[in-house]
Amino acid sequence: MSLMLLLEARHLTKRYDEAIVVDDVSLFIERGETLGLVGESGSGKSTVARMVLGLIEPTLGEVFFDGQPVTPRGAAMRKLRRRFQPVFQDPYAALNPRMRVEEIIAEPLVIHEKHSRAERRRRCSELLRSVGLDDSALARYPHEFSGGQRQRINIARALALRPELLVLDEPISALDVSVGAQIVNLLRDLQREFSLTYLFISHSMPMVRYLASRVAVMQRGRMVETGPCEQICSHPQQEYTRSLLAATPEMRVG
Ligand code: ADP
Ligand code: MG
Repeated sequence: MSLMLLLEARHLTKRYDEAIVVDDVSLFIERGETLGLVGESGSGKSTVARMVLGLIEPTLGEVFFDGQPVTPRGAAMRKLRRRFQPVFQDPYAALNPRMRVEEIIAEPLVIHEKHSRAERRRRCSELLRSVGLDDSALARYPHEFSGGQRQRINIARALALRPELLVLDEPISALDVSVGAQIVNLLRDLQREFSLTYLFISHSMPMVRYLASRVAVMQRGRMVETGPCEQICSHPQQEYTRSLLAATPEMRVG
């Protein structure tokens, strides 16, 4: 096994009743890289993400994080789970409307670590700064922020436990194009600053192309194409992949 290997999913299959929504998907992610998972809506991307995160049990197949099995239950999972964190599409749904930003960001610290109040506050300030916000956000509520700011708060919370991997499931799909571009730039900066590894899920190939070194293309539950981003984007083998490249306008970021 490569020392660089951080995440490996082998032959993931998910069946709901008679419907096979994910069909024999295998993927790997090396430390520090971004794997883009791209496909039209309903192709099974979020189901793969939920299996990778250990939120749902695969019907068949296995997930390993740093060589250890990822499962929805089990005592070993508590320690393992903090090393990978999700960021979902809808930044508002993910934030408890009754909690102040400080509580939202500090919640994982309260659950997993023992800190004094002052230490927690300091850590929250630090996290807010790293996502481009400041202490004025601490005492405010989610509804007081724009969509882009809420996604920043979400990202700060995801980073609270210093995870190694972020599973980003369409993190900018609910945002305006220019706001989404800012979030993508932030993600790129954070990746460098904190040596993060990303599974970046999107239906937009141009977006994936900007962040990812490798890409996996999903269609109707299957992985139909995978390889280095440049290769897939410049020489897509599948008509479907060509349509994903053509369907979304090139986005200017950076
Ligand atoms: P994507 O994220 O690519 O849009 P999803 O993984 O959310 O795709 O969904 C893939 C397919 O699986 C869809 O047809 C969806 O309706 C179906 N699906 C997802 N979750 C469930 C579930 N809990 N029960 C039944 N079908 C589901
Ligand atoms: Mg989805």
